[in-house]
Amino acid sequence: MTSLTHADEHGFFGAHGGRFLPPQLEAPIAEVAAAYSEARHDPEFQREYEALLVDYVGRPSPLFLASRLTEHLGGAKVYLKREDLNHTGAHKINHTLGEALLAKRMGKTKLIAETGAGQHGVALATAAALVGLTCEIHMGAIDIEKQHPNVVRMELLGATVIPVTSGGRCLKDAVDSAFGVWAADYGHTFFAIGSVVGPDPYPSMVRDFQSIVGREARRQVMEKEGRLPDVLVASVGGGSNAMGLFTAFLDDESVQIYGVEPGGRNIEVVGEHAATMTKGSPGTLHGMKTIVLQDDAGEPDPVHSIASGLDYPGVGPQHAFLRDIGRVNYVSATDDETLDAFQLLCRTEGIIPALESSHALAQVMKLAPGMASDDIIIANLSGRGDKDIDYVAERLGKR
Ligand SMILES: *Cc1c(COP(=O)(O)O)cnc(C)c1O
Repeated sequence: MTSLTHADEHGFFGAHGGRFLPPQLEAPIAEVAAAYSEARHDPEFQREYEALLVDYVGRPSPLFLASRLTEHLGGAKVYLKREDLNHTGAHKINHTLGEALLAKRMGKTKLIAETGAGQHGVALATAAALVGLTCEIHMGAIDIEKQHPNVVRMELLGATVIPVTSGGRCLKDAVDSAFGVWAADYGHTFFAIGSVVGPDPYPSMVRDFQSIVGREARRQVMEKEGRLPDVLVASVGGGSNAMGLFTAFLDDESVQIYGVEPGGRNIEVVGEHAATMTKGSPGTLHGMKTIVLQDDAGEPDPVHSIASGLDYPGVGPQHAFLRDIGRVNYVSATDDETLDAFQLLCRTEGIIPALESSHALAQVMKLAPGMASDDIIIANLSGRGDKDIDYVAERLGKR
């Protein structure tokens, strides 16, 4: 049976999820599922993971009352969950560390993954170096050119970056390439997915590793305010930082929850946005059933977002389910709204947010002014924006 927080025994959240894989990947995925279901109940594994979250990542991340932003917006109190202060500057390290520890426990020597913008690749290369595993990152040749600094980071961290020159030379082709290597060598390799997406058990496993974010936020808001928040907001690419924040609050009906997707340049034009929930339809992508931006033949649409970490034509299956049952509201923010929110946080709080996180802030700007001054919003500041400053400066110069 599906609950709000758990998949059924076949890995389905309502109509979404499951495993839709070529036969040669069935054995490797079954092995990961078995290993994870053991590890998640093993106090030794959990202790090792939680110790790294404290000593290496720097958790707990603060829950910060953004007073000047609150005053500027003139409504609800805005709190920011500061995932930008984690080691490597974003939430992704929470799940890549978990995946690396699981791989080590399974006796694997190599982590393998695909990456689009390179952020997952960098977080995984970091975890691999820490745990002592080799790391191979498959990346579309076009993305390698666009994301040169992340390629340099991965290589400095000891990872090998494999350029993918097949197909459109982008994320989808990188996924196929990495799946191929995994199927051929799963005795030694562990496939590490970068969000709450892919075949079961990855959406549940990555969510569990990220759920520390919401557990901390819940405790912190109770300490500071003595009550639950009224609203949660997070950006949604695949959906890992959002599930991380939301999970601890899903059963609290009084908490309204918003996931914010990239509306891009124009939400009405294919290829100009990545608003999967608004414009997508049921389909199959990356080994799961979910909502997909796709053409009539079921091929994923090209996508665009000002935030490279959000340009994904699908979404995690648990999000698709939470939309179906009306528990979470999925909305979008355009590139321009995102840029405004980015600048506002810089100037009111002295924090340069990631463009991904700025999508959540754009929704805060829409909601807060219409709320009462004793209402509480928690927004997930999923990452810091140092990586985005050249791009933003160029965009603002053109305006
Ligand atoms: C990758 C990334 C995202 C989007 O990924 P999710 O899995 O949807 O969280 C959001 N924010 C930052 C800072 C990222 O690096």
